[in-house]
Amino acid sequence: MKFLRLFFFITFSLSSLFSETKEVIVIGGGPAGLTAGIYSARSGLSTLVIEGEEIGGQIGLSYKVENYPGFPNGISGAELSHQMREQTLKFGAETLFGNVAEVDLSSRPFRLKLKNGKEFFAETLVIATGSRTKWLGLESESKLVGKGVNSCAICDGFLYRGKEVVVVGGGDTALEDALYLAKFASKVTLIHRRDDLRASKVLQEKAFQNSKIHFIYNTIIDEISDAAKNSVDGVFLKNVVTDQLTFYPCDGVFIAIGHTPNSELFKGQIHLREDQTIFVYPGTTKTTIPGVFAAGDVADPCYRQAIIAAGSGSMAAIDAFHYLQQNKK
Ligand SMILES: Cc1cc2nc3c(=O)[nH]c(=O)nc-3n(C[C@H](O)[C@H](O)[C@H](O)COP(=O)(O)OP(=O)(O)OC[C@H]3O[C@@H](n4cnc5c(N)ncnc54)[C@H](O)[C@@H]3O)c2cc1C
Repeated sequence: MKFLRLFFFITFSLSSLFSETKEVIVIGGGPAGLTAGIYSARSGLSTLVIEGEEIGGQIGLSYKVENYPGFPNGISGAELSHQMREQTLKFGAETLFGNVAEVDLSSRPFRLKLKNGKEFFAETLVIATGSRTKWLGLESESKLVGKGVNSCAICDGFLYRGKEVVVVGGGDTALEDALYLAKFASKVTLIHRRDDLRASKVLQEKAFQNSKIHFIYNTIIDEISDAAKNSVDGVFLKNVVTDQLTFYPCDGVFIAIGHTPNSELFKGQIHLREDQTIFVYPGTTKTTIPGVFAAGDVADPCYRQAIIAAGSGSMAAIDAFHYLQQNKK
């Protein structure tokens, strides 16, 4: 037993020696992670941002972001994240592209292993791995994301003033989106694959009373038209009972079948909420493990906006700074 402990101690010490230890490691290169990087590096902490393999995070998918303060004429999501990264580098944070495949949060410094096998050690960790939209998985859908196919009514609803849109889904998110979109669009059609809605009764009643909202049940989207033209002019609908295909004209499609937080890596080590977002103590970014903080969509069961992600990223860096001050070695 003694020998085993000694073996683990030597292995750990050697791997620490040949791997880098940072005061703050941020996992995620979206608005939350890059903002955490800016704040952390600017407060003089050695900082590494591991950006993953999807450059710019989800906001990079947005053709035009019109609700991020400071850009009255809007800015493309790719440009916004590019500028955030520039700012992170300017203050001395290091960044790298690559996916973290393993984390060990059982002792400090925390150990992280990338997919390519490289290891890093962190005095504090900011988890900003975001979430991913549940898409329908259609080829036309992936080609038209940001060009008429959307996943966020609050972000893009404004662009559909006076136009006709469809919303896919039957839960609370879909009905909330439909109600929100009905403020701008001339017609909102909710497409649901079952014959009854899962959403709360209150939302259902509000939606039924709204004359702009229409419902098509037992139906799925077979394909979105028209990827060849790089814009949406309608959807091919398939009735799941009769298999009948019809074309339904519209100007935009909102996919509202849910989000999956990128929290799988931390399962079993950190407390997750029922919806799989990372639990943080209210008003902070502190997780159930001291020295580990979570920011942005991965810890957000409700808002999922770039400005909220950036705000909580700054909170995480400040929380990490205070933690390091209070836990000096
Ligand atoms: C199409 C679309 C349009 C949108 N439009 C708007 C808008 O107009 N306005 C607005 O406010 N919001 C918009 N949003 C929402 C906004 O993009 C998100 O709320 C925001 O990006 C969340 O930021 P985040 O940093 O928490 O996570 P994300 O942006 O999701 O970034 C997560 C990061 O973590 C990385 N990552 C994940 N797993 C790992 C791992 N294992 N190892 C290393 N890295 C990892 C990813 O590569 C990524 O860089 C939109 C979202 C979408 C999908």
